[in-house]
Amino acid sequence: MRRVDAGKFRRAASRFATGVAVLTVREGQNGICGMTANSFVPISLSPPTVLVSVRPGRMHRAITAAGRYGVNVLPKDGQDLSRHFAGRPASETDPRHELVQGLPKLSGCVAFFACEVTQAIDVSDHTLFIAEVTGCDYCDIDPLVFFSSRYHLGPGAPLESSIHGTPNLSVSLP
Ligand SMILES: Cc1cc2nc3c(=O)[nH]c(=O)nc-3n(C[C@H](O)[C@H](O)[C@H](O)COP(=O)(O)OP(=O)(O)OC[C@H]3O[C@@H](n4cnc5c(N)ncnc54)[C@H](O)[C@@H]3O)c2cc1C
Repeated sequence: MRRVDAGKFRRAASRFATGVAVLTVREGQNGICGMTANSFVPISLSPPTVLVSVRPGRMHRAITAAGRYGVNVLPKDGQDLSRHFAGRPASETDPRHELVQGLPKLSGCVAFFACEVTQAIDVSDHTLFIAEVTGCDYCDIDPLVFFSSRYHLGPGAPLESSIHGTPNLSVSLP
């Protein structure tokens, strides 16, 4: 099979705009093990199923041990939190959270999913953690967007009204 240049693949993939999430697992009594991720994909509605792709490391070990993870979708002002959980922890960043189904839910996130791992599939240098959603929540604030390896504010201007026939662009799972 012909193999594409790694740098070119990375640049092309970066043109797929995504939101930014922080994956969370409880650590100790009151701590959070968290990792910034943009590989979150909702993959089926019934049952509500999602996946995240995680490289071996601290978060990979935490998800494997817990068998579950939280997905916190960051708001447009979540840049510092994203950096904090992407390997650049800042002492002045002290993320507040509450526990939902035993998983840390960060304050002010746009959406939260409590996820129970059903399959873990190793693919190249990542593992796909496929999970059933056991709870979710959302609010109507603008998200942080990642495009072309940079953070962007909000979702941009809508080109049409919602595909679900209502002016509200937010949709929650049943
Ligand atoms: C916008 C954005 C989106 C991101 N999306 C994702 C994503 O979807 N998935 C993802 O995995 N990361 C993603 N990252 C990177 C991730 O947030 C950082 O790499 C983070 O530091 C990993 O935290 P950790 O505590 O799990 O890793 P640590 O244990 O602190 O390790 C840091 C990094 O070292 C590498 N590493 C550690 N152990 C091994 C090993 N045994 N074999 C190979 N490599 C190893 C991994 O790259 C790991 O991420 C994203 C970062 C940003 C900014």
